[in-house]
Parts: sequence; C-alpha cells; structure tokens
Amino acid sequence: MRGANSRPCAVKLRFCPNSNDLLYPKEDRDRKKLIYACRNCEYKVDAIDHCVYRHSIHHTSAETTTIIQDVRSDPTLPRSSEVHCPSCDHGEAVFFSLTTSEGMSLFFQCVACAGKWKDEGSAI
Ligand SMILES: [Zn+2]
Ligand SMILES: [Zn+2]
Repeated sequence: MRGANSRPCAVKLRFCPNSNDLLYPKEDRDRKKLIYACRNCEYKVDAIDHCVYRHSIHHTSAETTTIIQDVRSDPTLPRSSEVHCPSCDHGEAVFFSLTTSEGMSLFFQCVACAGKWKDEGSAI
C-alpha cells in the first residue's frame, strides 16, 4: 500500500445483493453517516469500511531510524561536532541523509553510544 496515502480513500464498488445494481454513495441525513444505497430497491448499507487500510501505511520516524545500521565505522560519512546526543550528551556524531517516506531527512548517530536521531529541522 505504499504511496496510497497521497490519494483519497479508495472506494470499492459495491453491488446490491438483491438486484445486482451498483450501489451509490449517499448521505444518511438522520444519522449523519455515509451509506451506499441501491436505486432499484430498498437495500442500503453503512459505508464504514472503505478507509480501514489507511492506518497500515503510516511509518513513524522511530521505525525509520531502526532500519539504519551502525554507521560509526564508515569512514566516508561526515562527522559533526556541533551536535549533542539526546541519549548521552556526547558532542560528536556521524551524519547522513536518507530518503524516507516523508522525504529527505538528515540523521545523526552518536559516536559514543551509537544512539540515532533525526534532525527534524532539515526534513524537506
Ligand atoms: Zn437493489
Ligand atoms: Zn550518545
């Protein structure tokens, strides 16, 4: 389901079990809910399940950082001495950019405790 969050809800086509007609979305004004209704008979059903799988596509930044391996021994990565590790307050970290589902972000890894964090300010 990657990328589905940029689109509006995917609404499945529904068919009336009685007359096999396409059901039309409409508002139930009494209950203030979206329902699907058949135009040829009295069949109607609550439109409750058409958005359910949206929840599974959100990635938190915590999940993103756990996929980054230990990069402290990588000599090609630049180091910054202008940061402070949120875990141990050490003043030197390796940093690198990574493309995540939210765009390009800058990540740091503390050279002392290997703690990782994301530079929130640099997210594009
Ligand atoms: Zn029908
Ligand atoms: Zn640290």
